[in-house]
Order: sequence, then structure tokens, then C-alpha cells
Amino acid sequence: MKQNDIMNRLQQMTDENIADIERAKSEGRSVIGFYCLYSPTEMAVAADAIPLTLCGTRNDPIAAAEEILPRNLCPLIKSSFGFAVTDTCPFFRFSDIIIADTTCDGKKKMFELLSRYKATHVLQLPQNQDPETALPLWRAELARYKTIIEEKTGVAITQDGLRGAIHLMNRERAARKALMDVNQLNPAPLPGSRLLEILFKVGFLADKEKGISLMEEIAAIAGNGGLGATTIDRKSGKRILLTGVPVGVGSDKVVKIVEQAGGAVVAFENCSGYKQAFTVDTEKDPMDALAEQYLSTPCSVMSPNTGRFDLLKEMIRDFSADGVIDLTWQACHTYNVEAFSIDEFIRDTFGLPTLHLETDYAESDTEQLRVRIEAYLEML
Ligand code: SF4
Ligand code: SF4
Repeated sequence: MKQNDIMNRLQQMTDENIADIERAKSEGRSVIGFYCLYSPTEMAVAADAIPLTLCGTRNDPIAAAEEILPRNLCPLIKSSFGFAVTDTCPFFRFSDIIIADTTCDGKKKMFELLSRYKATHVLQLPQNQDPETALPLWRAELARYKTIIEEKTGVAITQDGLRGAIHLMNRERAARKALMDVNQLNPAPLPGSRLLEILFKVGFLADKEKGISLMEEIAAIAGNGGLGATTIDRKSGKRILLTGVPVGVGSDKVVKIVEQAGGAVVAFENCSGYKQAFTVDTEKDPMDALAEQYLSTPCSVMSPNTGRFDLLKEMIRDFSADGVIDLTWQACHTYNVEAFSIDEFIRDTFGLPTLHLETDYAESDTEQLRVRIEAYLEML
């Protein structure tokens, strides 16, 4: 199978997706929209609802958002809000309720305004991952979340239902991980922009089984060297690990510039990539297991955020990265401040400097970014 065939299959699934959601809704199933990796999607699955990722990676709705939100806010927040106010995200439209989290200041305040457009439940996320203090609070918060979903969907969430949902979502995360791990090979079989597009589009599919089987198939073929050639000369390209803020189709300019400069983005240490590669413990009580696993998500909104350093160490080694680009969206204070410690850690551990880039979704700084990225690749 060639990469073009894979992308055609994915496009076909994407085209069928809206009809899949409409059919499910007409059969009485609810749709629940999600913005953040801290919200356990298993709760929706256990209530026989469809969990959908919501849009937030394109620049075009930002102008509409800026009529209400301040301009000096992270583009991810403005894009998410812009999609909602312009009613241009079909998944937002289909959602019966939005589940959000108190992560960064901009996002949690934006959700107050978002609730004017759609029923929104905001999970009160602790600011650290302490097992003695934060975890019990989060466990109680998930119990309230369970009640909200039961009331909204009219479905009682049982222990067995939660176990089944964890099993399904673990399979999806394992398929994502297997797909991402093919790029541990050298040369990496999947260009970063292509890998990102697959992970991104699969995230919107209502039928989880379709996405799982496609990712498993691509991983098996790519792992056996069966993918057709691409336009990127990955053999000579430096292997880059991208860390920092989430990226997706429409907010992937840095990935594209790296590739145009002859580098290969082999891995993503962010919410679009490896942060979704975890497994929820199936031996524990399901609510306890969900609380523990989701709270441990290594995002910069946690203080401290030690898990990110551990994950980076593991990934730089496993993906044989030559360099690390740390991406921060403009006005994202948490990732921006953390960039210093990340650079220091990677220099001390691997003797590598990072390239810290701060940008937004617009194309206006593309040439400046290109100069810096080319200089970094040259220096590695
Ligand atoms: S980067 Fe942090 S706040 Fe943003 S989606 Fe990921 S976990 Fe949530
Ligand atoms: S990128 Fe930063 S500012 Fe933007 S939503 Fe995520 S944590 Fe908040």
C-alpha cells in the first residue's frame, strides 16, 4: 500500500464521518465534545455516547474570536472559541454538551463565554499531581462528571461499562502509539506532517473501530518497510522531536518548515502525539484508574510538571532524535516559562540545545521561522 492509498482511505472515512454521527444521533445516542487531554473520554463511551474532539487548529476563525476575546491570547484558545461563535466546527454543532477543564487561565475564562453557545461542564482540574492531596480532589471531580454525563445521556454508567470503555480507549491509544513508534526506525517511514495528519483526522472519527484498524494497518505496513517513497529525503535529514503545545492540521507550519529545510520530524511529544500514548490500568477500580492516569498527563499547566521531563528523556532516546524543537503558542505562559527548564534539562542530559520557537497560527513569520530552523538543523 502506498502512502497515497492510505490517505485516500482516511479521506473516505473522514467523508463518511458526518453521516456516521448523524446516524448515531438519529438512533438516540448523545455526542460529547472534548477540548483537552485531561478529560476522560471513557465516561462518554461508557454512557454509549460519542466522544468527539473539537476544532481549534485553524487560523481563519480567530478574527471572529478577537471581536470578543483579547487579541493577546493563545491562538488555540481563540481558534477554538472562533469555531464556536462562527458555527464552523461540525463536531461542536453535533455536541450535546462540551467537557472542558480548568487548565490555563485563558482557557478556563474562555469556557465561561463558550457556555453561552453550548452547554459546557468544566472539570475543576488540580494544579499539581500530588497523590495525597490532588488525586482525591480529582477523583471526586470525576464522580461529579460521571453524574453529569448520566443526566445528560439518560444512561447509567456501570462498572462494566467503564471497563469496556477503558478497554476500547486503551486499544485506540495503543494503535496510536504503534503508529507513532514506526518512526523509531531510521530512516523514519512516516514524514511528520503525514503522521500528524493521520493522528489528527483519526481523532475526529466517531467510529473508533475504523480509526483503530486503519492505524494498526499503517503501523504494520510501515514497520515492514512497505510504504511507498515520499518526496522527503529522510535519510540525510536530521531527526527532530517536536515538544510543547498541541499542533494539528492548520497549525502545523513548523513541521512543514522543518521538512522543507530537509529535516524529519520523527516524533511529537505533545497532546497531538505521545501524550495520548498512555494506558489506563485495567486491574484497578475503573474510576480510580481513570483519575490516576488522566491526572498524570504531563502538561505545563501542572506545577511541577516532572512527567514531561521523563517522557522527553525516554522519547529522545527511543526515537534517536538529533534535535528538539520546543514550540510555544504566543501568550501561552506555562509552556513559555517551562521552555527554559526543558532546554537546560536536554542540554544536561543529551548535550543538545533545543530550538525554542514562539509563534501563532498566522503565516506572517514563516520566513523568520525558516531562517531559525535552517540554522538549527545546520548546527546539529
Ligand atoms: S496542552 Fe495541556 S491544556 Fe492543552 S490540551 Fe494538552 S493537556 Fe490540555
Ligand atoms: S497552548 Fe498554552 S495557553 Fe494555549 S490553551 Fe494550551 S496551555 Fe493554554
